[in-house]
Amino acid sequence: MSMEPRMLKEGFARLENSSDKAMSYFYGRLFAANPRLRALFPVALDAQRDRFFHALNRIVWSQDNPDDLACHLARLGRDHRRYGVTAEHYAAVEDALLATLRVFARDVWSPRAEEAWTNAYRSAAAAMAEAAERDAGAPPWWAAEVVEHDRRADDLAVLTLSPERPLPFAPGQYVTVQTSRWPRVWRPYSIANAPRSDGRLRLHVRARPGGWVSGALVRDTGTGDTVLLGPAAGTMTLDPDSGRDLLLVAGGTGLAPIKALAEQAVAPGRRRDVRLLVGARTERDLYDLSDLRLLESVYPWVRVLPVLSDEPDFRGLRGTPADVLTDVLADLLEDADGRDDPWDGLDAYVAGPVPMVRRTVAALQRLGMPLKRVHHDLLRAEE
Ligand SMILES: Cc1cc2nc3c(=O)[nH]c(=O)nc-3n(C[C@H](O)[C@H](O)[C@H](O)COP(=O)(O)OP(=O)(O)OC[C@H]3O[C@@H](n4cnc5c(N)ncnc54)[C@H](O)[C@@H]3O)c2cc1C
Repeated sequence: MSMEPRMLKEGFARLENSSDKAMSYFYGRLFAANPRLRALFPVALDAQRDRFFHALNRIVWSQDNPDDLACHLARLGRDHRRYGVTAEHYAAVEDALLATLRVFARDVWSPRAEEAWTNAYRSAAAAMAEAAERDAGAPPWWAAEVVEHDRRADDLAVLTLSPERPLPFAPGQYVTVQTSRWPRVWRPYSIANAPRSDGRLRLHVRARPGGWVSGALVRDTGTGDTVLLGPAAGTMTLDPDSGRDLLLVAGGTGLAPIKALAEQAVAPGRRRDVRLLVGARTERDLYDLSDLRLLESVYPWVRVLPVLSDEPDFRGLRGTPADVLTDVLADLLEDADGRDDPWDGLDAYVAGPVPMVRRTVAALQRLGMPLKRVHHDLLRAEE
């Protein structure tokens, strides 16, 4: 390993050792030197701190992988636009970051370490600013009116939003959302439909206990309210050149991106066999089943298969999606007998709670499905 990445990792390890104190010091320095910057940040900084730490971690650990780093920085730079971040803010952050490192990484600090950090930070900041600049023609956010608010359960709502201007997206992507209740607090939510001629987007939102934005969207938002949306992002999209059959697996509100993919897969002119497994605990948790049944009735090559884990009398599939894959795959691969590689005709997409996604992906791999054909949103969820 060359010296520079090693010095960055050493310095970062010191910050990690006292992450709370280091981040308090960092924001203290930042806001003391630039009081006006405080207004760009949410009132409570906890989530912001985590995000900053995470971004720094990625910058430090991706030095040996420039493509990954460039991609990450471009996304961050574009993201920053909706907070109103400009080039001068990057300089202010540089000062505060170096001041923090001088204190918390003092035992490994040296003029060379300072130079390594300055270079790494400046090149990251330049990459972020460039990405923001490239996007300068596009709006940093869209105001969208809530035209329907359908409370499907105490903690779950399906929102239909009408953005003021067309918001381009591909099925499987997500948008970040800000509610008027929590200024400057943005959270990602998957879009639950393929693009429609009226430009509307649907979101499936589950209120998390104590959750700021999810609680506001489910409980304190209604028809006629306005929310702000960031540009669509995410890579869990259909391969445009593939006509392969689809195994779609959803758990919880992971159904949102999966449903958008299913809608795209049945768009006119296409005919791909689709098996949509919807994992839930009980029948009551199948909050969107009637809509899915409608899709199934219009497109007979789509089959919706609920899989319930806590409903012993359920007459359909029982267990978790991972438990039923053998049979579902046998059915889907039936026509593949003649092929050299039976997996050639199939793509899989998995979205939902992290443990469910992990288990499903592991089961698919065990059953022999090549991982390049298995798409999931775990990486996004952990970002
Ligand atoms: C790419 C992506 C797509 C997403 N799509 C959707 C979607 O379609 N629908 C949807 O409802 N959510 C989705 N989420 C999750 C969403 O972005 C928020 O994290 C979630 O709504 C909680 O935000 P909050 O502000 O309400 O909670 P916060 O105020 O951030 O957190 C409050 C409490 O809830 C806990 N918490 C936060 N997230 C979760 C979670 N996922 N499960 C359990 N506890 C949690 C926190 O640890 C904390 O204790 C997605 C996340 C990602 C990364």
